[in-house]
Amino acid sequence: MSTHSHPIPFADFAPPVRSQTPLRKAITAAYRSPEPESLAPLLAAATLPETVRTEVRETSRTLIEALRAKHRGSGVEGLVHEYSLSSQEGVALMCLAEALLRIPDSATRDALIRDKISAGDWKSHMGGGRSLFVNAATWGLVVTGKLTSTVNDRSLAAALTRLIARCGEPVIRRGVDMAMRMMGEQFVTGQNIAEALRRAIPLEERGFGYSYDMLGEAATTAEDAARYYRDYESAIHAIGKASGGRGVYEGPGISIKLSALHPRYTRAQAGRVMEELLPKVRALALIAKSYNIGLNIDAEEADRLELSLDLLEDLCFDPQLQGWDGIGFVVQAYGKRCPFVLDFIIDLARRSGHRIMVRLVKGAYWDAEIKRAQLEGLEDFPVFTRKLHTDVSYIACAKKLLAATDAVFPQFATHNAQTLATIYHLAGPDFRIGQYEFQCLHGMGEPLYDEVVGEDKLDRPCRIYAPVGTHETLLAYLVRRLLENGANSSFVNRIADPAVSVDELTADPADLVRAMVVPGARHEQIALPRDIFGRTRLNSAGLDLSNEHCLEMLSKALQHSATTGWTAAPVIPGISPEGDPRPLHNPADHRDVVGQVTEASDEEGRAAVRQAAREASAWAAVPPAERAACLEKAADLMQERMPDLLGLIMREGGKSTTNA
Ligand code: FAD
Repeated sequence: MSTHSHPIPFADFAPPVRSQTPLRKAITAAYRSPEPESLAPLLAAATLPETVRTEVRETSRTLIEALRAKHRGSGVEGLVHEYSLSSQEGVALMCLAEALLRIPDSATRDALIRDKISAGDWKSHMGGGRSLFVNAATWGLVVTGKLTSTVNDRSLAAALTRLIARCGEPVIRRGVDMAMRMMGEQFVTGQNIAEALRRAIPLEERGFGYSYDMLGEAATTAEDAARYYRDYESAIHAIGKASGGRGVYEGPGISIKLSALHPRYTRAQAGRVMEELLPKVRALALIAKSYNIGLNIDAEEADRLELSLDLLEDLCFDPQLQGWDGIGFVVQAYGKRCPFVLDFIIDLARRSGHRIMVRLVKGAYWDAEIKRAQLEGLEDFPVFTRKLHTDVSYIACAKKLLAATDAVFPQFATHNAQTLATIYHLAGPDFRIGQYEFQCLHGMGEPLYDEVVGEDKLDRPCRIYAPVGTHETLLAYLVRRLLENGANSSFVNRIADPAVSVDELTADPADLVRAMVVPGARHEQIALPRDIFGRTRLNSAGLDLSNEHCLEMLSKALQHSATTGWTAAPVIPGISPEGDPRPLHNPADHRDVVGQVTEASDEEGRAAVRQAAREASAWAAVPPAERAACLEKAADLMQERMPDLLGLIMREGGKSTTNA
């Protein structure tokens, strides 16, 4: 806060994130750019010569056929074996386990099983029938490898009811318990780091690498963040010891989420983030450096990206971290900024002398990004709206990384055999350890990468991302995996569906995009934020408070609004206000005088009410359409002058920007 007796309002509103270099400006400019514009250069880059396309098709066909020939799943088979259930009952128990996982304490869980579930009245007690079984198809897919048409609400509810009638509540409880354990084992490597390190040994012996992720994210309190910090710290020591000096490329590493380490990891708190979060990340990096293991910063929601680039830049220039090639960063190909972020990172690596590890992913927050942009009325989406566009972006960005392996260590994280095969051929036959690696998620990618790791296979390394934590911390991660497995456009879903041919699975995404009527066009069923109400009305426009351009515009507009001499006084036709104006202070900073206000006297109040009563019948006679038009006009005027109003509200009410 300024020490002047008369502060200049908004003088230090949202100072820009660190360096506004041309490369950073390009990132900002691409944030919500129109989809065809973002995709065009990527499509050109992802268009491969015919010879490479043929090789890719052949390799992906081999991988897909090998995958399809494998006996998938078994989770439910365990249940089936234990309880002699049909697999429907197994899937139903999985659904139940998942629903119960959403209840935080075991006393309430038990109460739910006892009081509600044992009555077999699923629909009325689980907040609508579908909420319990919403992921049934996915579970069927995950645990049996099949999507069965008989997986529906009614049959699953009936299966559970039958089960209770036959075996009673203790069996349900044991079944749910087992289902929870299976779910955990499907997606989590161990409940603690020691267990995870132990479980990793068999696959390590077969040539797989590991990056451990302590489950937990989005800390909401300082205590949460402190706990996650301790978890990371002890995990790094344990992983470091287990690494035994194998180094960044051949030994295990750790992945961290910045949102776990700070409860206010948002653009609005950029100052605090750099002051409080950076030292924590730096401290963890120093420990990782002492063991020479890789430390990877996971990618989260799009609005946090620029902030995390600031952090990355500071880490790279930290004198104590010099000479260590274990700093890692994740970049999401579904983001329109992806190629520009890579340009920045490659340049940063060269400027700072680190070889940065870059994990390229497609991105796990797609649904949330789309919904958030619509909800807030933002100008466009930060992500592509067609899966094919993301696939094309991934390939174009992979090429960029493969062309810069002096500066970066590319880590290609995908479960898609077509994407994998493309990268394998793009990188070419000459391979040495440390050039690049593949990555997959524990419980999802092993069958595919069994065909890749090993001298008798494609002979390329793969690192498994291994979540570590208890069931209580699993949920957010689990939901992302369910969305991923469940989406009918996803590779893991399509490969399990016999109706999808191998030709379809091996098709080149750039070919498919070029064959579209308008290549690069946004998905026609995903309405832009302003159009979500269809023909009814336009959505109101929001302000993107994570966009540097918007913040800069707003900063100027707010400062300008503060130069207006604001006055407020009663407006009653025929009466001039009697009272004396008084200064109005900003409740958040009493030195700031927002304007002059004249209060209405009692008599002025009564006069206003009398006048309103006189006019009421005339207003009531105005046709509804005309009245609606007045409201719309008012709304348009408010929207047009939003920065002015925002500035006024922030100062008069002492509100934060988001609140205002
Ligand atoms: P595919 O089925 O080929 O692709 C699915 C992906 O396509 C979706 O996940 C989505 O990104 C994209 N997509 C789907 N529908 C659309 C659409 N309509 N428009 C545009 N795009 C669409 N994700 C993160 O966000 N941050 C991380 O830090 C992260 N770390 C990971 C680490 C590892 C080792 C792995 C394997 C994954 C990680 N992921 C992370 C998750 C990753 O984003 C997903 O696993 C990945 O997107 C799935 O892609 P795929 O190539 O395996 O499958």
